[in-house]
Amino acid sequence: MDVEIRLNTNEAPEPPPEMFMKRLLEELSKLHLNRYPDRTSSELRASLAKLHKVDPSEVFVANGSNEVLQTICLTFGGSGRVAASFEPTYAMYSQIARSTQMKVVEGRRDEHYRVSVNELERVLETYEPAITFLCSPNNPTGTPERPELIERALEISSGLVVVDEAYGQFAKFTALDFLRAPEPPESLIVTRTFSKTWSMAGARLGYCVAPSWIIEEFDKVVLPYHVDAIKQVAGRLALDFVPEMDERVDRISAERNKIENALRELGLVVWPSEANFVLFRSTNPLFPGNLIWEYLLDRSILVRNCSSWPLLEGCLRVTVGSPNENDRFIGALQEIIA
Ligand SMILES: *Cc1c(COP(=O)(O)O)cnc(C)c1O
Repeated sequence: MDVEIRLNTNEAPEPPPEMFMKRLLEELSKLHLNRYPDRTSSELRASLAKLHKVDPSEVFVANGSNEVLQTICLTFGGSGRVAASFEPTYAMYSQIARSTQMKVVEGRRDEHYRVSVNELERVLETYEPAITFLCSPNNPTGTPERPELIERALEISSGLVVVDEAYGQFAKFTALDFLRAPEPPESLIVTRTFSKTWSMAGARLGYCVAPSWIIEEFDKVVLPYHVDAIKQVAGRLALDFVPEMDERVDRISAERNKIENALRELGLVVWPSEANFVLFRSTNPLFPGNLIWEYLLDRSILVRNCSSWPLLEGCLRVTVGSPNENDRFIGALQEIIA
């Protein structure tokens, strides 16, 4: 769709830092592309391990965190095994699990879009999933998971617990802390991506941190040389720009708060977000979600229309854009509703 303001896929509003692009081009000019890449992405893994204060043997990299999720399902899922998710959540969990012949069990979030301990216990004790997907902060609701819930999942699960932290940099809590504890859990996988905070959705790079026995199993399953040499360089260089990225996270969080406040002032229901997007719902029968979505599109602003998705009736999700884009989004909504 050809629109001026694209706030529908949770990408970063800015390209990566200029200095990053300059250094990337320099390093790429020295690559030997006639050769296969480092099969284990050892330098990139080491850089990520350093960033998260874990051992390189506890890091696995892939083509986007979606490929990490797929690798988890290929390695530990398959026919006769159950995957659990808590709806509404990121649709790829059930889609990828089904594509590896898993049976998918969908629990339900409460009215605040949180996973309750009761619901977690019901799903895990009844179905004994081989893989349980939690998403913190959750897409499309922006709500983070509590550490106690993840702890409980690790206690009662006989399978793996995956915590998808695609938006982890925006959250107050990270499940990586469990993996850095003196006696880390043996069944926890935390996934991350370069697609959002790192402004590199186009590079298709993601990774996970997990106990080394799990990473060893992944390495048996993935295709040889699945992470190309260009991407390995890009990922490694990006990690030299952590302070710049932290600053961007602060700026985007401030803009997100501005959007949340403006939406509340317009009488819209807003779920407090710890990510770079905001879920909201109109309770005004004159302006149902669908209609707001269309009116925004008339003004060349595209947001994600979740209004017909299960458990998200009437909801729209807006990605935090540049300050100017956000102002235009807010201005358009004020014009529509006021
Ligand atoms: C965007 C997103 C991803 C990222 O997927 P990539 O394949 O790394 O681009 C993963 N999980 C969630 C919940 C997301 O919203």
